[in-house]
Amino acid sequence: VHLNRKNLSGITSGVKVPEYSPDNLKPSIVHIGLGHFHRAHQAVYLDDLLNLGSGNAGIFEINTIPDGTGLAEKLAGQDNLYTLISRDAGGAEEVRVIGSILGYLSAPDNREAAIARMASAETEIISLTVTEKGYYYDTVTEDLSREHPDIVHDITNPREPKTVIAYIAASLKLRSETNKKPVTIMSCDNFPSNGKILKKCILSFCETAYPDLIPWIESNTAFPSSMVDRITPATTEADVQYLESAYGIKDALPVCCEDFRQWVLEDNFKSAVPDLAKAGVEIVPDVEPYELMKIRLLNGSHSALSYLAYLLGYREVAPAMGDPLLKTFIRNFYMEEITATLQDIPGTDFRVYKDTLISRFTNTNIGDHILRLTLDGSKKIPNAVLLPLEETLRQGRRCNAILLALAGWARFLEGTDEAGVPIPVEDCGRDTVMAAAASARRDPEGFLRAIGVHGIGADEMRSISGIFKDYLEKLHRDGTRRTLADFTGVPD
Ligand code: NAD
Repeated sequence: VHLNRKNLSGITSGVKVPEYSPDNLKPSIVHIGLGHFHRAHQAVYLDDLLNLGSGNAGIFEINTIPDGTGLAEKLAGQDNLYTLISRDAGGAEEVRVIGSILGYLSAPDNREAAIARMASAETEIISLTVTEKGYYYDTVTEDLSREHPDIVHDITNPREPKTVIAYIAASLKLRSETNKKPVTIMSCDNFPSNGKILKKCILSFCETAYPDLIPWIESNTAFPSSMVDRITPATTEADVQYLESAYGIKDALPVCCEDFRQWVLEDNFKSAVPDLAKAGVEIVPDVEPYELMKIRLLNGSHSALSYLAYLLGYREVAPAMGDPLLKTFIRNFYMEEITATLQDIPGTDFRVYKDTLISRFTNTNIGDHILRLTLDGSKKIPNAVLLPLEETLRQGRRCNAILLALAGWARFLEGTDEAGVPIPVEDCGRDTVMAAAASARRDPEGFLRAIGVHGIGADEMRSISGIFKDYLEKLHRDGTRRTLADFTGVPD
């Protein structure tokens, strides 16, 4: 059957469908960044809550960059419904139709309507999953990237925004002039202190674009930080076909993900927020220890493994992690160096957390791609890898596994693999990091500085650039397999 509201009753009995009517929902959440992750995470928690009969909060979706995949037509064609397929490592799968999305607007084609929707009195929460680069945050200056052409454009033309930052600012301006209702702005992207950084970027933008608005923002908005987790690869044509052949559902927008999920949210709201705790969201006073654990162990390990795995010839994550060389390197060396930089979390045993991560990474039932993990390393690595590296150095500990992982990234950024085949490097800072990688063997310190290692002394820099250079030379001389075998002691 073609997925839509009329056909829900005809869907096979093994598939869970919404037990609530979308007609009774209010669009009290506006979400920016309708990608795969949001559909596997926040929209699912909301769907759970609605199935429990708790509240009537639905989600109105906005994308601020042109989509190009016909998302609006696809969603409208199936009454905003879509199917979620989650699979555990044992092969069990759960299939359910999610009904918490109420509508969608592509902001570049409907600028005024998008801003009005965000500013509406009905909107209690504005949430985001727009990838790290969508924030235009410079980790070196610790401020909005004011020199970025998109931000320069938006500061000059605040009423014709391109960036999420300017859209939110324009909506706050309108809100402050109309209904004046407080609002919660909730980042669900993968980087530490995401709420604080979002607030900083918005305030920094407003300093120039709307200076009079700042006091209103200070007293009428909250920016809770969050830790979000569920491995969600991009949907493939094979997934679409599988859903139809196995379950008889024709859905243009299914999402496949792992069974695991976690959402830890800072208890910091300024508006009426659904009772997310009922759906399993952990609401805590301080998210930071959870963010550090998740970003450094999960995302950092993803980065550490992806470049080396690509060089070893792997294209999917599960088979790569099934290779004893990589698995030992990540579990017994990389993760151990990282753990020393974490803060204790009562009730959380890091050993169990790491073992669970390894079994999630080796879940052969979700086809997660190595290239997805390699995307935008220049944005992800500073938080996930370099901050723990600097902390490890401050503690006077060994950081060889971290340095080998960085050498793997530098080797990847050289742009050709061990057989001389070009590597598809996709990175928003591609030119800078590739140029630094091209001269990294000659100038290892230059590479480390270019990627953002800056909070350490000259002696430490000399020492780590020596080790980094030795690994990079060894990757060239002996290849990735031999280098990992010598490092881990696992026979290759
Ligand atoms: P995706 O490619 O499916 O979707 C990306 C979304 O971000 C799209 O809606 C796109 O419009 C928007 N976007 C991208 N660049 C933007 C920009 N510069 N400005 C405004 N919007 C922009 O990716 P996804 O899997 O949904 O991941 C999105 C984010 O979610 C990640 O970057 C991460 O922060 C977070 N996340 C993802 C996962 C995962 O496993 N996929 C897990 C945890 C957290």
